[in-house]
Amino acid sequence: MQQFFLRQGGLRRNLLFVREKGGYHPKNAEQLAEAYCMGALALPEEIAFEDHYIACARCAEIVENTALYVGAMQVAARRLREFVRGVERVETAVD
Ligand SMILES: [Zn+2]
Repeated sequence: MQQFFLRQGGLRRNLLFVREKGGYHPKNAEQLAEAYCMGALALPEEIAFEDHYIACARCAEIVENTALYVGAMQVAARRLREFVRGVERVETAVD
């Protein structure tokens, strides 16, 4: 697999790109999108990824799907925490 840092556009140098079907995309775009949606990227990588996916339909779709997934997981985690707190309250009331 050919991989390199794109030279055009200074911010793109913060991401490693690979040639895939349909053009050049950041390496491990799915993992990158997940970290992006979780707010876990360093600012230079975050900006470079935004700079890419705003003009790349493939990566924009990955970000959109990942954002939906991350949002659903955050809702599920919040509901689980509320359920556990409710069970703990019932157990405390019974004791
Ligand atoms: Zn892309």
